[in-house]
Amino acid sequence: MKIVGGKWSNWSGGVVCKPKQIVAPKNEVGLAAAVRTAEGTVRVPGSGHSFTPICESDGTIVDLAAFTGFKKVDGEKQTGTFAAATPLWAVGPALHVKGFGLKNMGDIDRQTLAGVVNTGTHGTGPTLGNFSSEVAGFRLVQATGEVIDCSPDAHEEIFRAGRTSLGMLGVMTEIAMNVRPAYKLVEKNFLLSPKEVFSQLDTLIASNRHFEFFWFPYADNCICKSLNETDREAPAPRSTEAMYQRGEEHGSDARTFELINEVLPYAPFLLKPAHRMFSRFMPGPDRVRWSHELFPSPRTTRFNEMEYAVPVEKGPDCIREIAQTIRKKRINTGFPIEYRTVAADDVWLSPFYQRASATIAVHQYHRVDTAELFGACEAIFRRYEGRPHWGKRHTRTAQDVAAVYPKFDQFRSVRRALDPKGKFLNSHLRAIFG
Ligand SMILES: Cc1cc2nc3c(=O)[nH]c(=O)nc-3n(C[C@H](O)[C@H](O)[C@H](O)COP(=O)(O)OP(=O)(O)OC[C@H]3O[C@@H](n4cnc5c(N)ncnc54)[C@H](O)[C@@H]3O)c2cc1C
Repeated sequence: MKIVGGKWSNWSGGVVCKPKQIVAPKNEVGLAAAVRTAEGTVRVPGSGHSFTPICESDGTIVDLAAFTGFKKVDGEKQTGTFAAATPLWAVGPALHVKGFGLKNMGDIDRQTLAGVVNTGTHGTGPTLGNFSSEVAGFRLVQATGEVIDCSPDAHEEIFRAGRTSLGMLGVMTEIAMNVRPAYKLVEKNFLLSPKEVFSQLDTLIASNRHFEFFWFPYADNCICKSLNETDREAPAPRSTEAMYQRGEEHGSDARTFELINEVLPYAPFLLKPAHRMFSRFMPGPDRVRWSHELFPSPRTTRFNEMEYAVPVEKGPDCIREIAQTIRKKRINTGFPIEYRTVAADDVWLSPFYQRASATIAVHQYHRVDTAELFGACEAIFRRYEGRPHWGKRHTRTAQDVAAVYPKFDQFRSVRRALDPKGKFLNSHLRAIFG
């Protein structure tokens, strides 16, 4: 969480707010009292990696720094419980020591567990759901200060609504995740032309536990990445401290990428050579590591991002149209388009609710205006029945959201019952969910 001079800002620097107060309760009792007595909007950021203003508050920001750490594993139920603000880089090592691992993860491990659960953050894999869909239970401090445990067996409706709820139902203090025995993965990276990718996409997705590709539209090259389980030897797992350090590494490729992204807005003729060069930035030969070490990569160049989930069968057409539009309009971006797949789930506000999906993400360097790229792409995502990622930029209204999230109204009823005065709503959230 980044707080300087009483101002809170998100990772990309695109969202800044100055709350009246920032409170850092030491325990659940203190947290409940702080929430109950706070005046104005109460927002509880994780590590601020969302690009949308979901954490913004002019009232109270709650700093959950004291709510980190491993609690327990239940070998029989195959669950691992953590304090809600535990960063993901600490989750993997703690589970590994107990012989377990998360079933899937996204691109990075800088976020908090509560942050990824509350926004429906995901990785890739046609048989694997997002973080929210693997929640076995959570503990919630409500607007009244009352604390409840939610699971399929207790407060079931709040559990169903709450797993992806952007902190609108209350403050999670503990989260139990479904886990599985620890496992190793082998990572392969390879370059294919878009034609080659699309001619074998179904096979690439079906035959790998995880497959994704990054398409550089001006180079007409895709970096492909697969991860599969293996019994091969892996180096001893890193310590928690080493996992933290690794995610902060700003290597030479990242420095070059950043430098060129500074120049590109003034030198659009460099787009093609730049994309060609970036598409050669690939990790070296195959690597074998324990799963929590291979899912995340360091992402130290700041950007803003838009991502939509579209029905999986429509994914190829949608990304082709996105790439074509970027080229046709000569939109200036140094970033590739990212394509992943995610299994359907039963989480009310999950972008994957009852729908196997392809996710398509576009990124823009943090110092470049996003309007042209995101405006053009969002118009396309709409036509493909896209559901926005809650943590990534979108301009959807309540009416738009209701049209693509079947449980939108039910979610709003649960939210209203738990927080009738809208304590947890800021202006962005109120416009959609109020
Ligand atoms: C570099 C980068 C890479 C990314 N990669 C991926 C990816 O691979 N896949 C993907 O899907 N997304 C990805 N994202 C998006 C990111 O995972 C989400 O925005 C995520 O929510 C960020 O977690 P956070 O801890 O920073 O939460 P924040 O952004 O700080 O908060 C997110 C939401 O969670 C709520 N919240 C936080 N803590 C609590 C709590 N204790 N109780 C209740 N509500 C709470 C907040 O109020 C807010 O509504 C990426 C973002 C960045 C910047």
